[in-house]
Amino acid sequence: MVRVAVIGAGMVGLCSAINVQKELPEAEVTVIADKFSTDTTSFGAGGFFRPFMPDIAKGVDLKVAEQWVRDSWKYYASLARSDLAKETGQTLVPGMIAYRTPQDQQYDLLKELVGDFHRVDLEHLQKLNLDTYTYAYAFTTIIVQTPKFLDWLMKKFVASGGKVQERTVKSLKELSSSFDIVVNCCGPRAQELLDDKSCFPIKGHIVMVRAPWQKQFFYGEGDIYLIPHDDKLIIGGIKDKDNGSMTKYPYVREHILSRALALFPQLKLESSRSLKIKEDDIFVALIDMRGTMVRYIRVLR
Ligand SMILES: Cc1cc2nc3c(=O)[nH]c(=O)nc-3n(C[C@H](O)[C@H](O)[C@H](O)COP(=O)(O)OP(=O)(O)OC[C@H]3O[C@@H](n4cnc5c(N)ncnc54)[C@H](O)[C@@H]3O)c2cc1C
Repeated sequence: MVRVAVIGAGMVGLCSAINVQKELPEAEVTVIADKFSTDTTSFGAGGFFRPFMPDIAKGVDLKVAEQWVRDSWKYYASLARSDLAKETGQTLVPGMIAYRTPQDQQYDLLKELVGDFHRVDLEHLQKLNLDTYTYAYAFTTIIVQTPKFLDWLMKKFVASGGKVQERTVKSLKELSSSFDIVVNCCGPRAQELLDDKSCFPIKGHIVMVRAPWQKQFFYGEGDIYLIPHDDKLIIGGIKDKDNGSMTKYPYVREHILSRALALFPQLKLESSRSLKIKEDDIFVALIDMRGTMVRYIRVLR
């Protein structure tokens, strides 16, 4: 029997573990992680499906990367349209993405997948008070509510016989006597585990508010975004490359909220404090988490 260890219980680790179970039904698969569910980066992600092309293809053939995107879309879209969607957390959501320079090329693949991708004309942007942008595209994409999805993935993994170990792996060598294959999905901490400088943290910061009337997504150049989940709206954001700090700064929250309110006055909630947002309406006032940019997928012996 093949013994497979998957390091990491984020989206990447759990999806990988389930795929190993599917491809190698005889294998004994163990997920090893020191953080689960709410403590992972995956838990706080907006879950917005928008592949960065061609950037995500660094280190792999572009055609291969495009196939990953197609497969991912097919998988998430099938969940979004299934009777499991409420549990698994995928929703098809319409919205708009807006820039100051043309970005047509970046979206060629997404255009092929979503079906309703189209350019928004300037007149329409003016009507929406979004005329600081000049190139906008409207489409329906998938939003993954990662808290639900992580929970579903873990249940599915365990129900299929998967094992879980909570611990920190200090070196891959410590797994060599107990496992035949190690799948490393440790995210930005590859720097710490493998001294892998091609993985680096990107500090992210989002604000979650209760605004159920906002049903559409918006993503504007400069990382201003709204991502609706069932019961909350994720407002973003910042991306701070090479910053692995988890320190929270209130002024970043104020900055994120004031930028969003300037574009979308409909988000103004009941009064309190400087931003007129009722504290009760803020689920998580502040979230700082680490994202990562993984440049290469490698198979080592
Ligand atoms: C604010 C924010 C918003 C985002 N929004 C989006 C979005 O809208 N769309 C999108 O596609 N992406 C988004 N992302 C990016 C997305 O969250 C990440 O790419 C994704 O969550 C990475 O998942 P992961 O499984 O690789 O890592 P993680 O979720 O960080 O999981 C890593 C796992 O590895 C384990 N681990 C690491 N090292 C060790 C070790 N040495 N020993 C044991 N266990 C270890 C950890 O315990 C954890 O379980 C966002 C990121 C941030 C920060």
